[in-house]
Amino acid sequence: MNALYSGIPFMTEKGNRYVCARDRRQALLCHPLLYHILTLAEQGVDLDAWLNRLPDRGITIEKAGTFTKKDVEYYYRKYLFLREHGYFGRVDFDREFCLDLDPDRIHSALANTKQVIFEVTDACNLRCAYCGYGKFYKDYDKRENKKLDLRVAKCLLEFLEKQWNSDANVSIDNRIAIGFYGGEPLLNFSFIRDIIDHVEHLNIPNHRFVYTMTTNALLLDKYMDFLYDHQFELLISLDGNRRNNSYRVLPDGSEAYDLIMKNVFALKKRYPDYFREKVNFNAVFHNRSSLFDIYQFFKKKFDKTPMIFELNTAGIDPSRLGEFWNTFASIQEDLQKVNNPQPMIEDMFVDLPGIGSLSKFIHQYTDCSFSDYNDVMATEDEPVRFPTGTCIPFSRKIFLTVNNKILPCEKVGQQHAMGYVTPEKVKIDIDPIAAIYNGYYRKISKLCRHCYLADDCGKCMLHLDMAGDAPECDHFTTIDERRIRFSAHLSYLEDHPRTYSRIIKEVAYD
Ligand code: SF4
Ligand code: SF4
Repeated sequence: MNALYSGIPFMTEKGNRYVCARDRRQALLCHPLLYHILTLAEQGVDLDAWLNRLPDRGITIEKAGTFTKKDVEYYYRKYLFLREHGYFGRVDFDREFCLDLDPDRIHSALANTKQVIFEVTDACNLRCAYCGYGKFYKDYDKRENKKLDLRVAKCLLEFLEKQWNSDANVSIDNRIAIGFYGGEPLLNFSFIRDIIDHVEHLNIPNHRFVYTMTTNALLLDKYMDFLYDHQFELLISLDGNRRNNSYRVLPDGSEAYDLIMKNVFALKKRYPDYFREKVNFNAVFHNRSSLFDIYQFFKKKFDKTPMIFELNTAGIDPSRLGEFWNTFASIQEDLQKVNNPQPMIEDMFVDLPGIGSLSKFIHQYTDCSFSDYNDVMATEDEPVRFPTGTCIPFSRKIFLTVNNKILPCEKVGQQHAMGYVTPEKVKIDIDPIAAIYNGYYRKISKLCRHCYLADDCGKCMLHLDMAGDAPECDHFTTIDERRIRFSAHLSYLEDHPRTYSRIIKEVAYD
């Protein structure tokens, strides 16, 4: 039998017993006897024979008490009743997951794309030691100080204008984000200015454009008026205090910290309201970072909580693995070192990865979280799901590289090009893209069908090495690993019930 077991019993640190019914997407508090029966069922014990052999005096369960045989029979009937009504079966991977992505879904994703990101230039005025386009990685095109061709970018926008205006655009959200990414995007300012001018002349009724940019802030002093005038949503890359930020250096190796801080303070001073509403920070976490220092730094200097990301572990150059792992540090491990972390957790909330995964758990297993009104009305039928956490190409965004390649986002290796753009045409062949994804689904599903994270997986296939027939996944999860994770989530919620209600009220899960 290779179908995964569904009723996973687990205990919290406080000793409360639960079962996670994966087939019903519920985590249920359960009586010690039901928990005991579920544990025996998981071990493959013949429950009828076990019950027949049970003496009349019943059984004693550690830290729960003694129960008569009558009690046991009652909970056994309850177990059977729940099983009969769809709980605690086995998850049939082939019924639950589709391995056949229909090209129409990609067409539809393209027509409903909500974000277009331009790799404005591959040039950068910093040389951060851990840069995603630097020495640790080998999955990007050679950096040659190029600038994205304006004609190519306009051609893509005109193609998308037709898509957005087509009947296939059924999106109810009328916001489209135009993003500028690098290298350092402000090194190609004229492109940004001209694209915005072009976007403002596109004819897409009932839609509004917003502009976003990830910048290292070195040229903010020069361009802040323009950014303010166009109400850019700015994400400034800054890792925290001087030590936290010490991997972000200028080409001559000197620290960029003072220059960045000078410009950020200038922006804050000149446009305080804009700074408060539209400017955020993005801190990379590494072996010179400390979660608490980062938190305090941004709080004190800017009254902000930054987004914090670990180093990307995909696409590493094998010859640099040792150096990479010396530089890598885990946010979760660092959080364990913080004395009284709760006020910081409450304040940072979804900006902390742990709260993100807790929100996902609540969404998946509390049966009272809906993605939209249609979801509230939904019948028993689940929407079609595909293995892994990979998005349907272009459903989240479309990324145009400086070499005119089209990618589903800026976070995947540039070998995953799914088309290209010239000044005259956009070439995206949907059928071959679907065929590649379906080939990947078939390969990875050999692993996913044994993985207890399959129904909750956030792993993108494009971050795995999919070249061979049997790809490996560093997130593969056994039943016991899953049990530990469930227990950690529920233990945290039992200790912090306010976090549960905040997640329910404040977190929109996508
Ligand atoms: S990383 Fe993968 S799943 Fe995430 S947006 Fe990019 S392509 Fe989609
Ligand atoms: S964690 Fe890895 S093995 Fe598990 S379902 Fe996701 S992609 Fe598959």
